[in-house]
Amino acid sequence: MNAHTNSSQTVRHSRGVEQVVVGTATSDGAGVRLTRLLTQNLQRRLDPFLMLDAFGSDNPDDYIAGFPDHPHRGFETVTYMIAGRMRHRDSAGHEGLLENGGVQWMTAGHGVIHSEIPEQEAGRMEGFQLWLNLPGKDKLCPPWYRDFAADQLPRYRLPDGVAVTVIAGESMGVTGAVTRAGTQPLYLDIHLPAGKRFEHLLPAGHNAFVVVYRGAVEVAGQRISDRQLAILDNDAAADGVHVSALEDSRLLLVAGQPLNEPIAQYGPFVMNSEQEIYQAINDYRSGRLGKLQAA
Ligand code: MN
Repeated sequence: MNAHTNSSQTVRHSRGVEQVVVGTATSDGAGVRLTRLLTQNLQRRLDPFLMLDAFGSDNPDDYIAGFPDHPHRGFETVTYMIAGRMRHRDSAGHEGLLENGGVQWMTAGHGVIHSEIPEQEAGRMEGFQLWLNLPGKDKLCPPWYRDFAADQLPRYRLPDGVAVTVIAGESMGVTGAVTRAGTQPLYLDIHLPAGKRFEHLLPAGHNAFVVVYRGAVEVAGQRISDRQLAILDNDAAADGVHVSALEDSRLLLVAGQPLNEPIAQYGPFVMNSEQEIYQAINDYRSGRLGKLQAA
């Protein structure tokens, strides 16, 4: 509420929209229906981000089975739950309930086996899961995990009614729930009233995108509608982005410093080389990523 005064955010020249992505309907886990907005073919372009899934349904059949035990190695997962309740348990001994407006940040590092299971039998389940890469030197770090309830997330409100939750990075002098030196992720949830404009500085070399999940906005004359991801161009002359709301809107603004390292992915393992992928599969099969304790 106060911190926006100590940091000027005037953006002189906004980035434009390079591409609008509508996403791909798919299912994952034990049959959870979702829209993959950041697909594998965009991993280079949106480095250090590897994947973004949007889930949102009022029909329990679309989510009830959840994501039973599965492994990860080499990157971080950031789950933002807009509505609903999901129970997380992992082989590093972490357990948490993620619900309405909360964020779960998990650094898989060397490896975890975890489950993500809905804790509701009806009602709306809506949110996002973002995969953020780790620099090669950190891919085998110890696993790390934290839950942030909605009221623990840093946020600020501007005089014109714009409300911002700072999930990662720094915005208007407000430090986010998580910061990372290697990839410098910025992850904002922005509630933008109709007719209002939000601007944010972005380092020129950082890859950035916007995802609209309510209403519609405009960036540099390009309309971005609900459920669309807009890749912002890396215009060297631009110092940030202007987003204008065409109606009451909610959107995510995500940016990060590219790692510029090779990306080798096999399902839930993301490493730098095929050799490291074989090692990950081997370690998983041999039980070296741990085991989930029985509930
Ligand atoms: Mn997972």
